[in-house]
Amino acid sequence: MQETKITIIGAGVVGLSIAYVLSKFHQDIVVLEKNDSFGQEISSRNSEVIHAGLYYLPDSFKAQTCIRGKYLLYELCSKYNILYKKTTKLVVACNDEEIKKIEKIYYNGQKCGVKNLKFLDSGDIEELEPQISAKFGFISPDSGIIDSHSLMNFFYTKAKDNGVTFSFCTEAAALAWRGSHYKITVKEPKGDTFSFQSQAVINAAGLNSDKVAQMAGIDIDKYFYRLNYCKGQYFRIGNPKKFSISHLVYPCATQISLGIHITPDLGGGLRLGPDAKYISEINYQIDEADQGCFYESVKRFLPSLEAEDLVPDTVGVRPKLQKEDEIFKDFIIQHESDKGLPGFVNLIGIESPGLTACLAIAEIVKKVLKNA
Ligand SMILES: Cc1cc2nc3c(=O)[nH]c(=O)nc-3n(C[C@H](O)[C@H](O)[C@H](O)COP(=O)(O)OP(=O)(O)OC[C@H]3O[C@@H](n4cnc5c(N)ncnc54)[C@H](O)[C@@H]3O)c2cc1C
Repeated sequence: MQETKITIIGAGVVGLSIAYVLSKFHQDIVVLEKNDSFGQEISSRNSEVIHAGLYYLPDSFKAQTCIRGKYLLYELCSKYNILYKKTTKLVVACNDEEIKKIEKIYYNGQKCGVKNLKFLDSGDIEELEPQISAKFGFISPDSGIIDSHSLMNFFYTKAKDNGVTFSFCTEAAALAWRGSHYKITVKEPKGDTFSFQSQAVINAAGLNSDKVAQMAGIDIDKYFYRLNYCKGQYFRIGNPKKFSISHLVYPCATQISLGIHITPDLGGGLRLGPDAKYISEINYQIDEADQGCFYESVKRFLPSLEAEDLVPDTVGVRPKLQKEDEIFKDFIIQHESDKGLPGFVNLIGIESPGLTACLAIAEIVKKVLKNA
């Protein structure tokens, strides 16, 4: 049976950033990916926003890794010419109730350590974005957008150059601790299986990360690792030249999402979304009947928007630990030695801001493995 030192399950942005960071210090790293290339699931179906870190419980993993991660990401992008833009972001309120809510977001952001936030009145907002109409708001200068595919391609290429082996079309199908190593059994598309040994395993399997934890013998209900799927749909503005919007524009966040926002993308397009709907099975079908709801939500702060401006775009699915009626749940970034699984690191519930946080998550994994 073949042996390796570290196995990473999943080649999304999280698994790739971990492979990139660890490959600078370790030899013998294998990445298993069930699809035929990297980044075909959550990491290619998101808003591509570099978040400032406004929304999360202070001191949570989400807050810490977002704030550290955005700094690392901006540094990496400018050093290696990965496409990004610090667009900055406006969070806007259209009525008194929303003003109270965005004030809370502003002060929460400050508590989390986000710098340079500034309240704006309706005149300030009009000056920055003449087509946006709002009563009140604030600006977040650290927010931006990134070409997530270029980022993933950078991690993949660098990790490969550093000796990481990528095994595509290879699904981790079984996992067992054998006292001194893990026995990992993988399945290929035609159903063939083979096994190898690994000293450490990092579970970065996105929407399947709870199932991979279960495969290792963890009771995912006892430890609250079971994921819920939450669909996020996008509509695109068919003729983006009709509008001249250069900032990210967000309404108030809700309990389960950041609200349907306007994202200017790096290609000059304008996307609206995502919305948030819990689903029992993963599917990427857009419900065109929801177009009216998108239109109504965004028209409140973009009055010149017309229903015909919207065309269906993509869909992403969030891996949420939080059930629909629950409040904030943090990322699980957990070394499982106390469950009898030394060298096994679980990354579960890595929803937004996981793209922003990917390098900070990789730093934590590196530290955990060093201590292990
Ligand atoms: C609608 C939406 C909008 C978002 N917007 C933002 C945003 O603007 N900014 C931000 O910072 N974050 C955002 N996020 C969050 C961000 O996209 C995710 O946190 C991040 O992409 C998660 O990456 P990942 O590598 O964990 O998951 P994935 O990209 O899904 O990668 C996991 C990989 O594991 C593979 N895999 C699964 N099971 C197995 C197995 N058994 N064997 C082998 N391989 C396996 C999968 O095929 C997949 O390629 C958004 C998410 C969604 C859904």
